[in-house]
Amino acid sequence: MVIKKKSVSIVAPFYNEGEGVVLFWTAIREILDAMPAYDFEVICVDDGSRDDTLQKLISIAAQDRRFHVVELSRNFGKEAALTAGIDVAVGDAVIPIDADLQDPPELISEMLAEWDKGAEVVLARRMDRSTDTYMKRKTAELFYRFHNRLSHIKIPENVGDFRLMDRIAVDVLKQLPERQRFMKGLFAWVGFKTTTVDYKRSAREVGTTKFSGWKLWNFALEGITSFSTAPLKLMTYLGGTGTLITLFYALYIVFRTLIHGVDVPGYASLLVAILFVGSLQLIGIGILGEYVGRIYMETKQRPTYVVRKQHGVSRTFDHLASHDSHE
Ligand code: UDP
Ligand code: MG
Repeated sequence: MVIKKKSVSIVAPFYNEGEGVVLFWTAIREILDAMPAYDFEVICVDDGSRDDTLQKLISIAAQDRRFHVVELSRNFGKEAALTAGIDVAVGDAVIPIDADLQDPPELISEMLAEWDKGAEVVLARRMDRSTDTYMKRKTAELFYRFHNRLSHIKIPENVGDFRLMDRIAVDVLKQLPERQRFMKGLFAWVGFKTTTVDYKRSAREVGTTKFSGWKLWNFALEGITSFSTAPLKLMTYLGGTGTLITLFYALYIVFRTLIHGVDVPGYASLLVAILFVGSLQLIGIGILGEYVGRIYMETKQRPTYVVRKQHGVSRTFDHLASHDSHE
């Protein structure tokens, strides 16, 4: 009798990682070869790279049957690329991992051990982010604190997309219909029995980060507006407080006028009050706009990503083979 091996899909998004592709292959191959107890597939998503990333990935897929390439039609961003890879993956567990080897592949065996012990989600937590700049660490810390204060869905701090998810969690994730995908939040929303393994985040081996400060800022806005409506409520309370203060101030002016007569000066206080209230209104409209804009994008119902082509031998996992035979 053949005992069926558990299958594991590793999903890696690639955007202009030409210098790192072979390094990635070498590192992953070594790790996978050391774990013959599982069937592996590696889904590499080329997120519209403009360098030779795609060519290199395709040539690897031709040499290593575990490697598959999903080629997107243009750059859709990391969240979309990850979604594409997870949609294609067929393993009993799925592990998203960065292509730049900042998520150490050595950790995969620890994750699998936790999975075998019954965990449905295994998070990889960065113990030490000293390789990130001071600014990045501080802003990340602020984001987590702010987000988790506002939202019911708590995003675990110092946990990236690197994690293991059992098929049971992946299937729920795939059912979430939203097009704008803030993966960290969606991963957390799904829930399930979760354990954590710790690691030390290393610096990028080659290439440079694809996330500028402005991109990260927008990413943070996306995260907060995707999972919380607290900013909208905040405006209501600010408005309410302003109204109360104005009311008392109005009463005060009425009584003062009754006692001391008409008081003509007051240009400065008048101007300050007008400008202050005006700015508050603009901020309020801006916050509203963030939400309305997202509703607008969602209602278009455009797909999250577009696949140009898939490369690599057809998937070898048994349960996939049975699907293929119907085609
Ligand atoms: N990435 C992607 N599409 C993008 C930007 C990034 O697929 O538009 C991939 C990138 O190739 C890498 C991962 O997302 O595998 C993480 O990117 P990066 O290392 O630049 O982010 P950082 O580690 O600096 O947060
Ligand atoms: Mg990186």
